Amino acid sequence: MRIGFHVSISGAVDEAVDRAASAGCNTFQIFTRNPRGWKFKPLESDEVERFKEKVKRHGMSPVFDHMPYLPNLASSRPRIYRRSVDSLKAELRRCYELRIPYLVTHLGSHLGSGKASGLRRIIDAVNEAFSEDVEGTVLLLENTAGTRNSMGSSFEDIRRVVDGVARPDRVGVCFDTCHAFAAGYDLRTEGAVGAVIERFKEVLGWERLRLIHLNDSKGGLRSRIDRHEHIGLGKIGKEGFRSILRSEYGKLPLILETPVDEKRSDLENLKEARELAK
Ligand code: ZN
Ligand code: MN
Ligand code: MN
Repeated sequence: MRIGFHVSISGAVDEAVDRAASAGCNTFQIFTRNPRGWKFKPLESDEVERFKEKVKRHGMSPVFDHMPYLPNLASSRPRIYRRSVDSLKAELRRCYELRIPYLVTHLGSHLGSGKASGLRRIIDAVNEAFSEDVEGTVLLLENTAGTRNSMGSSFEDIRRVVDGVARPDRVGVCFDTCHAFAAGYDLRTEGAVGAVIERFKEVLGWERLRLIHLNDSKGGLRSRIDRHEHIGLGKIGKEGFRSILRSEYGKLPLILETPVDEKRSDLENLKEARELAK
């Protein structure tokens, strides 16, 4: 099993690798900078070296970077859009420096301007970012919960982005189980999970799928609520995760983005996932 958490880079970026290793992970995800702001400092060359060395030494593979929260690649506001495209370029550059093979991004919100123009902006953003970027990192488009005006809550919508970009070979998909469930993809039984897998294969092709964000959901099916829950304690439930983990999904890298609260620790979620996969 390839399984890990989203870990903090608090201290220095290489400390994330220590956190993942001490938790018994063989893969992990990070933000390479504060995800709640626009500004960031360049990476120091010594932390970059330490990061690469530790990733190798601990056999962490693959490593995932997640885009910060503020960029909106579908934004109809020109200044925000510009900053968002620049953030994507910068993040691809940081992935290259850290030799991170995958960058996860949400597709953003069209802010009421309509899906068609939102889609156009996402495609232009990805094309511009790739045109100036060094080869290497694959951009993973994450499915979203389908909250108002959000882009990418269906496999078909993600397919439109893939079809529009000039470099489809550099684009993959991250499947978030919480977001999928909230958007209307039932994952509570073996049969339901099988049907979602078939649908994914038909619309996007299985080879596009590179990462599973393994999260239970506080919201119900088609609730369009993006609130994560501990594995098995939410509306997808134990039977759902048993089905997910024993299906083809379980063979892909799994990253937990479960809540940090007193209900259950990260380690207990990891243990629960391993149990259910058996
Ligand atoms: Zn995400
Ligand atoms: Mn996610
Ligand atoms: Mn989420």
